[in-house]
Amino acid sequence: MTKKNPLNFYEIQRKQRRKSIFLIVFLFLFYFIALGVISVVFVVSFGLILSKDALLSATFLRKLLVFDGALSILIASFQYIDARKFGAQFILKRLDARPPDLSDRYHQQFANTVEEIRIASGLPKVKPHVIPSFAVNSMAVISADETPNVIITEGLLAEFTRDELQAVVAHELAHILRGDTFYITLVCSLANFFERFRQAIEPDTSYQRHHSQAQGSGAVAHFMVYFAVFVSNIIMHLLSTLISRQREILADAAAVELSRNPKALGRAIYKAHLKNSFIGDFNVTYSPLFIVPPESKRGESDGFFARLFNTHPPLMKRIRLLANMLRTRPARIIQEVWEIQKKRKKARTLVSSREEALEDGEIPASHPDEHAKQEGKVWAVRDRQGHWQGPYTLEELLSSRSFFPLAHVMNMQEGIEARAREFPQIQDAIRRLRKRKFIDPAKQNKCPRCSISLKEGFYEGVAIKVCPQCSGKLVDSTFKERIITRKEVKFSEYLVKKAKDFRENFMQNPTQMKKIAFEQSKKISCPHCGSRMVTRPYSLHYVIPVDKCMACYKIWFDADELEILQIVIEER
Ligand SMILES: [Zn+2]
Ligand SMILES: [Zn+2]
Repeated sequence: MTKKNPLNFYEIQRKQRRKSIFLIVFLFLFYFIALGVISVVFVVSFGLILSKDALLSATFLRKLLVFDGALSILIASFQYIDARKFGAQFILKRLDARPPDLSDRYHQQFANTVEEIRIASGLPKVKPHVIPSFAVNSMAVISADETPNVIITEGLLAEFTRDELQAVVAHELAHILRGDTFYITLVCSLANFFERFRQAIEPDTSYQRHHSQAQGSGAVAHFMVYFAVFVSNIIMHLLSTLISRQREILADAAAVELSRNPKALGRAIYKAHLKNSFIGDFNVTYSPLFIVPPESKRGESDGFFARLFNTHPPLMKRIRLLANMLRTRPARIIQEVWEIQKKRKKARTLVSSREEALEDGEIPASHPDEHAKQEGKVWAVRDRQGHWQGPYTLEELLSSRSFFPLAHVMNMQEGIEARAREFPQIQDAIRRLRKRKFIDPAKQNKCPRCSISLKEGFYEGVAIKVCPQCSGKLVDSTFKERIITRKEVKFSEYLVKKAKDFRENFMQNPTQMKKIAFEQSKKISCPHCGSRMVTRPYSLHYVIPVDKCMACYKIWFDADELEILQIVIEER
């Protein structure tokens, strides 16, 4: 069986490739007509200089046709080769699709699900990808080397149950198996070419328009180019419409054969429609690739124009067909969506603030280790006024304002006073700083507040590092979308109130950037790379001040800061 199926896949690809030859013919005809029209316009404009007889002579027309044909073949083949070679990679790049991060629980589950369904489908290989977007959507494309890719959004990972995720992956693999993905990837890649072309001429349109008013033929030529791009865009869209509407329904049916769960697929499609499925401004071109149309909600109808322009069948039609397989009503599937939503809300684990946890004795009260803090504070530096500043640790010394390699420095432990660069320890530290290494390697992976080792932990499935004493958390800033979209936890009343207080304080004084716990405004260095962290608002929309590392893009959240951030985000 394993021997037969991979062959099947490549056979399908070969068959699709053969079928796609008609796309070249289509492109050729399109260019042939478009260039023909353009050249006729040119000929008529220049007709004023040439005599009428020369224009209508058979040899001239034949030459024109040959020229038109040759140019059309050239452009069509160039575009086809470009789409086959670079199309899929361009789409993946434009969507910012990344391989799953296997340290992340959700991503790991996605990778496992893809592998599971892949084995069931008999496909030789499938690459999973995740788009860091809040939207709920999924798609498949086939790379130039025939590797199928399944792509889903962070939003989908956060919202979907395991069986819904399986159903969605099965739907995408069904497309790949049926050969739709090959074809749709190609059509979208061909459309990409026009998009890029239009983008290339768009910036100077105003300039050209301005200029060409004087020269009539130039304006006409420019208009013709623009018109050709516009018409071809519509034709590409229609072409993908024709192929994808029926295919969505057929893929739904094939997906059920793979996952054996029509209910979960129905729920998944309904949920994706319900949530925001918008991914970016390139939606229209890529629409046929997605499981649900990524456009902002359009009136759902199955009338003539909808049939002509919608890339996907109407939502209720898809749900009805899936419900029919189970001999149930579509309303039953939709009802289940809400029931699961309610159940998930109830199942959220309660998170309380650090103060509450201390009171309940869940975590040991922190005993700031005075010795650990004092350790290494043996340096002093003379400022411009001649006063000694310190005591500092080596790190603090290097970031102090009075420090420069020729500054007068004292090692108080050894009672030595000299120029800074004369101390081998300082020389070494400067070198490490330049190489972006730890000034004090012992500080690596230690809590910047309490100097004890950080522990591996999870926050809503995201792998993070936590301080067991102060509950501070080190998070990679690329995890932003994941933490925002996932809703595994609910918060204690005390935390919600703390968030409200923060917001009110902030509203009264928006320019003052104050940490939630004021005593934590002391500067710290990054536990990951050793660079000095800076206190900055979390993001433009969520201005909670947190400590950020500008070198390795880690964020340090002191106790409760991450939780309060999430409360503020969820309440929006
Ligand atoms: Zn700590
Ligand atoms: Zn860092």
